[in-house]
Amino acid sequence: MSTSVAGPEIERLIQLLSRLPGLGPRSARRVALHLIKKRETLLGPLADALRVAQDRILTCSVCGNVDTRDPCTICADERRDPAMLVVVEQVGDLWALERAHATRARYHVLGGALSPLDGVGPSDLNLAPLVARIARGGVSELILAVNATVEGQTTAHYIIDLLASYPVKVTRLAHGVPVGGELDYLDDGTLATAMRQRTAF
Ligand SMILES: [Zn+2]
Repeated sequence: MSTSVAGPEIERLIQLLSRLPGLGPRSARRVALHLIKKRETLLGPLADALRVAQDRILTCSVCGNVDTRDPCTICADERRDPAMLVVVEQVGDLWALERAHATRARYHVLGGALSPLDGVGPSDLNLAPLVARIARGGVSELILAVNATVEGQTTAHYIIDLLASYPVKVTRLAHGVPVGGELDYLDDGTLATAMRQRTAF
């Protein structure tokens, strides 16, 4: 039990900050002190941004992305290819693919991956709307951009079975040597998969 060094309001701020990913109690105290020191230029604007986010963030009813509009900016973008749909586990994966300018396709966010051990079943994922989107037609390729984990691969196989009766081509990301990657630094799984999935020059 740590002793309080500040009033309950500041202790509460530290306690909440320590729940953020990557912040333990020690770094939460450092962040809190920084915010307090910069209360005009940082703490105030941050509090305003958090309030606006809390009030205005929506889950897209089409794809499961988060945005301040529904349908989200990506679903509403007419320049996106409606024939290609990229399935991801989390919004963070969508952001990563967008940052990498990896595709001009549309997305579908599952909200997780199947994990019987953690009690995550098909009804916990955003699957019914995915089937509905495919059933509506117009999607010719479904790209399963799920994680290269047991859960991700289980989810991929489940989706393939689920959509077996629809005329849609299902593809997945190649798992291989990252661009700029040196073989010596790759983990064994990546290296073994890269060898198995080798392609012709
Ligand atoms: Zn959307």
